[in-house]
Amino acid sequence: MADRVAVIGGGVIGLEAARTLAEQEISVTLFEADELGGRASGRAAGLCYDAYADPRDARIAAESLTYFREQDLLTDCPYLWFAREDGETADAIETQARRMADHGRDVERLDGPAVGERFPGLVADDIETAAVAHNAGYIDPEAYVDHLADRVRTARVDVRTDVGATVTDAGAVRAGGSVREYDAVLVAAGAGTAAALPTRDLALGLYRTQALVAGPVDDDIPMYYDASTERYARPLEGGVLAGDGSEMYDGDPDTYDGTTDEQFLTTRLAGLGERLKTDVELDRSWSGLCTATPDRDPLLGHLHSEVYVATGMCGHGLMRSPALGRAIAEQILGGDPVEGFDPTRFDGTESASLPVGVTE
Ligand SMILES: Cc1cc2nc3c(=O)[nH]c(=O)nc-3n(C[C@H](O)[C@H](O)[C@H](O)COP(=O)(O)OP(=O)(O)OC[C@H]3O[C@@H](n4cnc5c(N)ncnc54)[C@H](O)[C@@H]3O)c2cc1C
Repeated sequence: MADRVAVIGGGVIGLEAARTLAEQEISVTLFEADELGGRASGRAAGLCYDAYADPRDARIAAESLTYFREQDLLTDCPYLWFAREDGETADAIETQARRMADHGRDVERLDGPAVGERFPGLVADDIETAAVAHNAGYIDPEAYVDHLADRVRTARVDVRTDVGATVTDAGAVRAGGSVREYDAVLVAAGAGTAAALPTRDLALGLYRTQALVAGPVDDDIPMYYDASTERYARPLEGGVLAGDGSEMYDGDPDTYDGTTDEQFLTTRLAGLGERLKTDVELDRSWSGLCTATPDRDPLLGHLHSEVYVATGMCGHGLMRSPALGRAIAEQILGGDPVEGFDPTRFDGTESASLPVGVTE
């Protein structure tokens, strides 16, 4: 049984895990190289839904949505995803929606005219097939990080920000010039996870993804994902938050600058102009680094000796963090691993490619 645990990484996954451990009377030290939520977590778009075709993934997402609702963090909002023409993408949406409904998700199929009637704020005449998930909404990532920061501090986690940490060959933690042993170490360092481990042999790829906020938008709109162009958007305080522009990244995550490119801004604003019934202007934009795995499932579990990892969220880490943070904490405490997420299922030589958009 682990009494003293180190968590490396203060994004939403590390924070959720630290909170769960500390609430079980475990002594937890959390090392964060930057500020809490300062990397991907604080830059997320905040979309949350349980629209996953795999029952395990849907369960994880639904458990997380329940947490967000209980904590009053979620604004309920339907999640619509659609294809513009017949073919593979439209067929995939139909299959996904059927599978989701079969295992109890509140998901329905719509055709283009029905989308137009249900969501009059969207231009829908080019939509061929769509599905809408009702158990969905969005959260404000910064408010969520603040909420977790309060909870870990209340649970007496020893939080050390601006302190980078690495795992030594012997499984100890090197931080701030000293080396200390723990009963268990969880590395949940997002894009910095491989660099925090002594052997960097994780099957983990990095990609950058971009987002912008534009407005004004007076109509009620759902959160939506255009599967034909892999673009998504959601309402945000009288405007819209929209994203895509993802590409693999092989630079140093520590020096990533968080900027967007002109092409993304131009094409994304033009896309909003076609989809929304009002003209919008750019307010702000940013980008962040996400982690990808070869099979699109996270690397979450025991790695070697007393070292555990939780990364490879493939762009869905925020919406699944309450359940996944809890799951890895429970595994450290002796519970069962999440089936299929074992980080040793790869030998580290496999390559990860860009996950497809923000839907599964
Ligand atoms: C533009 C954008 C939009 C997104 N939209 C969504 C969305 O709508 N819904 C969704 O579910 N997900 C979304 N995501 C993905 C989501 O942000 C991530 O999956 C999630 O935040 C991952 O959390 P994490 O804790 O694993 O990683 P991170 O948030 O990256 O946290 C890891 C932390 O570890 C720290 N760290 C790194 N190395 C070290 C070290 N050596 N020592 C100490 N600390 C270290 C970092 O500073 C960082 O704070 C989006 C991401 C981006 C960039």
